[in-house]
Amino acid sequence: MDDKSKQVLTTFLGECWHERSDNSIALCAKCSKILGTDDPNRTFDTWEDFGVLKNKIVEIGEWDKFIEWLIIGRYNINPVNLFEVADLFSSVLNKFQGPLLVLEAIKEGVLK
Ligand SMILES: [Zn+2]
Repeated sequence: MDDKSKQVLTTFLGECWHERSDNSIALCAKCSKILGTDDPNRTFDTWEDFGVLKNKIVEIGEWDKFIEWLIIGRYNINPVNLFEVADLFSSVLNKFQGPLLVLEAIKEGVLK
């Protein structure tokens, strides 16, 4: 996933997309957080980051809307076909694919 996509997801979470200050690379230029030597931003390729995204969607009350969009809008599945729904969840419950689907829902205006 590219930085621009990670930034969209970070902003969706209401978190700072940290950028190193010109004056002191140890500080974020926007929120003044002390940054370590590693990439200070979420990578969205871990279960933790995917879990935070999932919890955020639940917290804002949009989980049902997201699942409806996945089943009908994104994958065009007839909900009575439980095998297709099971396949859907095996692809959604993936720490790499899940954040990409959240990103797509944000870009399509399903999640704001
Ligand atoms: Zn910051």
